[in-house]
Amino acid sequence: MLANKTALVTGSTSGIGLGIAKALARQGANIVLNGFGDSEGPQAEIAALGVQVAYHGADMSKPAEIEDMMKFAASRFGQVDILVNNAGIQHVARVEDFPVERWDAVIAINLSSAFHATRLALPAMRAANWGRIINVASVHGLVASAEKSAYVAAKHGVVGLTKVTALENATTGVTCNAICPGWVLTPLVQKQVDAKAAALGLSDEDAKKQLLGEKEPSMQFTTPEELGELAVFFCSPAGANVRGVAWNMDGGWVAQ
Ligand code: NAD
Repeated sequence: MLANKTALVTGSTSGIGLGIAKALARQGANIVLNGFGDSEGPQAEIAALGVQVAYHGADMSKPAEIEDMMKFAASRFGQVDILVNNAGIQHVARVEDFPVERWDAVIAINLSSAFHATRLALPAMRAANWGRIINVASVHGLVASAEKSAYVAAKHGVVGLTKVTALENATTGVTCNAICPGWVLTPLVQKQVDAKAAALGLSDEDAKKQLLGEKEPSMQFTTPEELGELAVFFCSPAGANVRGVAWNMDGGWVAQ
């Protein structure tokens, strides 16, 4: 379905981003990966799916590096047809204790990076009259939790950016939508499981149960594979008139 298309997925060396990159690659899209840590393993996993893959290590908190990544993707594959704004970090602290430098980093990586990549991707998408921008927000783009001020502010911002981008392109073949996962067992969440286990003297399994029990009625983690399939739907012909939604995949979190 996505042969001859190119998808750039930010923060795709692990977790949800890698899951979405693989799902798009299975549909035939060439992939540009981004993110920190090991990039060789993820590149090999994508190449094994029979598509072309490239990697750019832009730090998503730095607009000049994002610009360089977008130029690299265009020079390597012609243009970016599908942009998945996924890179994100978390920091947990009460507002009055929140380190200013962590606030700035969360806003830069989780929100401003999506603005920069989107503004740079749009001209070529509009010229082609086809494009898909998928923003990985969170249930925290719709509701709040204590001690996550920067993350909740950034994710609510991402949902707002999604709606504006969708509206500004509503008469074109370019759509923009957000995905709002509940708990997904990635390194980002394992850190929160570890903190809970240490604070309450719980086993890893009990800490996971407690985390799920507080918020996610299904008592199941959403998986990167499931989120990848939702991204594929947004890219499919049936998704052409889905514009500006914030679609939660959260085991019932936001239904409560
Ligand atoms: P993860 O830690 O597994 O992956 C984050 C990715 O972003 C990694 O590839 C990392 O290298 C990259 N990254 C971090 N800082 C970066 C930077 N400055 N520049 C470039 N890349 C950077 O986390 P994840 O859980 O897969 O999170 C992916 C996205 O999903 C985030 O936006 C997160 O907020 C969102 N999300 C996660 C959950 C969850 O439960 N895990 C729930 C809702 C939303």
